[in-house]
Amino acid sequence: MHEMSLVQALLTQLATLAAEHDKKRVITVTLDIGPLSGVVVDSFQFGFDILSAESNLTKGAKLIITNPPATYQCIRCGHRQTSLIRPDHCPECDETLLIPEGGDGIILNKVEME
Ligand SMILES: [Zn+2]
Repeated sequence: MHEMSLVQALLTQLATLAAEHDKKRVITVTLDIGPLSGVVVDSFQFGFDILSAESNLTKGAKLIITNPPATYQCIRCGHRQTSLIRPDHCPECDETLLIPEGGDGIILNKVEME
């Protein structure tokens, strides 16, 4: 499962952060997962539940996932719209070729540690 390696990368990042700030426990992690990232949020959450329990640092940590919308720009008229799902046409000129901007990342938004 693709998500497992992403969770593993996140946990490694959290361990590094905790070491840098001399923290012993992660309480909450807030992640922005873009709609174009290809990540299945449920699978990510599932992977986090399993892998976070294996380390004292992240045991019991709460994962909060937010889905920021992506922006789609019309190739003909330049109109931009933000949406969680890919729009099938431009509302201004009906063009169907829309170029997505952003929304493909996994961003570690906030971490609470103690
Ligand atoms: Zn347009």
